[in-house]
Amino acid sequence: MPLVYDFSHKHRRPPMEYKDLLGGKGANLAEMTSVLRLPVPPGFTISTDACRLYMHGGWPKALDKEIAGARARLEKAMGKKLGDPRNPLLVSVRSGAKFSMPGMMDTVLNLGLNDKSVEGLAAQTANDRFAYDSYRRFVAMYGRIVLEVPGEEFDERFDAAKAAAGVTSDAQIPVELLKKLVEDYKAIVKKHTGKAFPQDPTAQLLGAVEAVFKSWNGPRAFAYRDRERIPHDLGTAVNVQAMVFGNRDDNSGTGVGFTRDPASGENKPYGDYLINAQGEDVVAGIRNTEDLDALKQQFPKLHKELMGIFARLEKHYRDMCDTEFTIEQGKLWMLQTRVGKRTGRAALRMAVEMTKESAIKLSHTEAVQRITEDQLSQVLHPQFASSGQTVLAKGLAASPGAAVGRVYFTADDAAAAAERGESVILVRSETSPEDVHGMLAAEGILTARGGLVSHAAVVARGWGKPAVVGAEQVRISGNQFNVGDVTVREGDWLSLDGTAGVVVTGQVALVSGKPPKEFEVILGWADTIRKGHLKVRANADNGPDATNAREMGAEGIGLCRTEHMFLGEDRLPVVRKMILASTPEEEEAALEGLLSVQREDFLEILTAMDGLPVTIRLLDPPLHEFLPSTHEMAVKEATTGLTDAEKELFEAAKLWEEANPMLGTRGVRLGVVKPGLYAMQVRALMEAAEQLASTGGHPIVEIMIPLTVTREELGLARSWVEGAVASVKAKAAKKVKGAKLDVLIGTMIETPRAALVADQIAEEAQFFSFGTNDLTQMTFGFSRDDIEGRIMGPYLEQGLLKRNPFEVVDYDGVGALVRMGVAKGHETNPNLKTGVCGEHGGDPESIDTFYAAGVDYVSCSPFRVPVARLAAAQAVLAHPEVGKAKKAPGKRVAAKKMAKKTAKRAPAKKTAKRAPAKKAPAKRAPAKKTAKRAPAKKAPAKRAPAKKTAKRAPARKTARRGR
Ligand code: PEP
Ligand code: MG
Repeated sequence: MPLVYDFSHKHRRPPMEYKDLLGGKGANLAEMTSVLRLPVPPGFTISTDACRLYMHGGWPKALDKEIAGARARLEKAMGKKLGDPRNPLLVSVRSGAKFSMPGMMDTVLNLGLNDKSVEGLAAQTANDRFAYDSYRRFVAMYGRIVLEVPGEEFDERFDAAKAAAGVTSDAQIPVELLKKLVEDYKAIVKKHTGKAFPQDPTAQLLGAVEAVFKSWNGPRAFAYRDRERIPHDLGTAVNVQAMVFGNRDDNSGTGVGFTRDPASGENKPYGDYLINAQGEDVVAGIRNTEDLDALKQQFPKLHKELMGIFARLEKHYRDMCDTEFTIEQGKLWMLQTRVGKRTGRAALRMAVEMTKESAIKLSHTEAVQRITEDQLSQVLHPQFASSGQTVLAKGLAASPGAAVGRVYFTADDAAAAAERGESVILVRSETSPEDVHGMLAAEGILTARGGLVSHAAVVARGWGKPAVVGAEQVRISGNQFNVGDVTVREGDWLSLDGTAGVVVTGQVALVSGKPPKEFEVILGWADTIRKGHLKVRANADNGPDATNAREMGAEGIGLCRTEHMFLGEDRLPVVRKMILASTPEEEEAALEGLLSVQREDFLEILTAMDGLPVTIRLLDPPLHEFLPSTHEMAVKEATTGLTDAEKELFEAAKLWEEANPMLGTRGVRLGVVKPGLYAMQVRALMEAAEQLASTGGHPIVEIMIPLTVTREELGLARSWVEGAVASVKAKAAKKVKGAKLDVLIGTMIETPRAALVADQIAEEAQFFSFGTNDLTQMTFGFSRDDIEGRIMGPYLEQGLLKRNPFEVVDYDGVGALVRMGVAKGHETNPNLKTGVCGEHGGDPESIDTFYAAGVDYVSCSPFRVPVARLAAAQAVLAHPEVGKAKKAPGKRVAAKKMAKKTAKRAPAKKTAKRAPAKKAPAKRAPAKKTAKRAPAKKAPAKRAPAKKTAKRAPARKTARRGR
């Protein structure tokens, strides 16, 4: 297996398809060189294989020889040698992973310079100043990145030299001073490393390659990969490329160009460039850049050539590309290209427009596949609620959306403030990869310098964080900044609008964003793709949420948590009466009180979702959640004393208190001990449905029993539901002739047992809805209310878990239970409808897992519905086998086979980003079928609640569920 490939290497497939091996940058450099034949400085790529070998067992033996061979070929192609004192070759050494990680890893430029070759460069270019400027840059860069010398020492020395010379621009520093700076820099290196700056170009090259390998595991790169869900074991490639110089003279320059506008998506090239500068100057935002129109004025021919290259790149990649280019003494060189990052707004516009462009001819399917979850949610970003605020400063609109927070000036301070719960605006002169943790913690980012492709802009856009960059009026000094005579200090409130590039003092009220017209177009295409395969419903507990969900495109309600209806101030006393009832009559009376309020709630929801299915879940949480905290009552009793009513409540609270409320009197168990409760809820629901039907509506009702673990439980609960449905129907039939109501009765699958005996439970169910919140809690044995505060952080940091399983469904464990539940359910009930209503129903990667498991719908919070519609379509495209299996005759058998098949593979869409190969769940004999038994006929006699234990887990916070 070769470890090094020249850019001109003949691969079997187009090089751009070898990103796994060559990294994105290397694959595209090879594509530009060998396929597009663009003017690319020659070079070679050290593969990701080499980096992985290095990570596992140190420097690979074969690598020295292969690098030496590639270097010799490069020297031959350039007619120059590294370190040659007369005619030296200089190279850049850059990282390039499979997934772009802007600025996260390290780059060394001008490698090959030493005390002798700098003279050669000076003679060869007849430019002493240029040669020594390149050398001082190299010593500082190499010192910082490879030799780990603190970068500030070089910066301080540099600023002091400028001040001493009385110049403001770098280009004005006289050559003598540059020579002195080189000596000073070398002394700094010696002080920190105890060794002289390396003069041997081979040692320089190998040192730089190793530094890039190491940077893959640096904290910045780690943090970035965690955020972007990029596996940590991919490794990076390293690209070694002959240097061309944009800082050679005023006939040279360097820039970054996009084939279309990456912020708005407009089909118009966009770019930033600087005359007489090196690439890092543009990206680092050290100098303020000029645009492509300025390039056209200064270099009309080169501008034309660049535009021609842009057009070819777009046609070839069938997408918007970003590029880095350099002009050296009037000649244009392409240093890099890749499919460019873009804002959500731009992504939608480009995808839709490219379906109409003959050069690209994107299909609707491809357009849908191109949009990411982040991009879609970005266009729903908040904006300033009103206009007309006094603008403090203006900068470039680098990343859309508005943000409000308190100002902090360092990444550490920003991260610490966010940790304390503050909303933060990070304000920096410019950002660098060292700042990513602060950027991540901030609501918004403001920089005084830099262009639209500066580090701050690129990273903020990628993360969908609002950012204003290059606000030149902002003068930062220490822990404050000034704009004219206005001073903003650390901790002051600041608002920024990254869509308009505007900064305002204080807290501006925000409203949610208005998506562009292409938003609905793309979602319409997504809906067509997923039609008949995977529906999207919403979890909503009241009329306004249901209306909102429907506007977002929900095709019904997958979960209405009826307990949320009981928590209002006016409802709680009635619920308490029901709990405190000491006679059946008192209980009955309390239930009647609840019935009327529930009916109103149900009517609102059914009306909002008229014609679409609405799944009403009967009461789920432990009763003690409706009672006051025993701890607080005990304190009150000991201090101010309790009223008689409070005493009664305190007694009830103690009586219902449980050691493990999440495993206690919840769900159907509650129905078993308070059987009248579920009958009341069903009556309220059916009366509401009848009322809607009688006025011409079309309610479609699904009644869901929570937390069942046996067929018998479900059979019993079903008998109450059917009884209540029948009694309401009988009454209604007398009033409204011919009114017909569709009602399905089903259950949630929320425990491992329920999934394991799904075939038995399905005998009593018309539908299953997987409650993956509880299923995750009970499969892992992780308390869903506590685990994220204490355990999850260390588990993720130490790689014990790849993801938080409450955010992304655990493919191997919980996912296997869903696959099993769907397949076994269909064994005994081929017409069983299946869905998911845990929070995972709105997570794209989980949606992929669920679709592959064979579910019919997912249900999520209303605001996630657009993302779920898109992700559902992408899942359908990624799993054609699922659609075929569902359509095949004998759905039961097909579903079973399909579950086995899908259980063995990771979902296609995200395979690239997922952890390494998943193991299929161990094969097991199918569960023994038990003969169908009639459900228990009688409700068990009322039991006294379980004995209380002194120690108890903290109460489950109902309000947090489903957030
Ligand atoms: C679940 O457990 O996934 C579920 C949807 O129910 P809840 O969150 O209300 O417990
Ligand atoms: Mg649940």
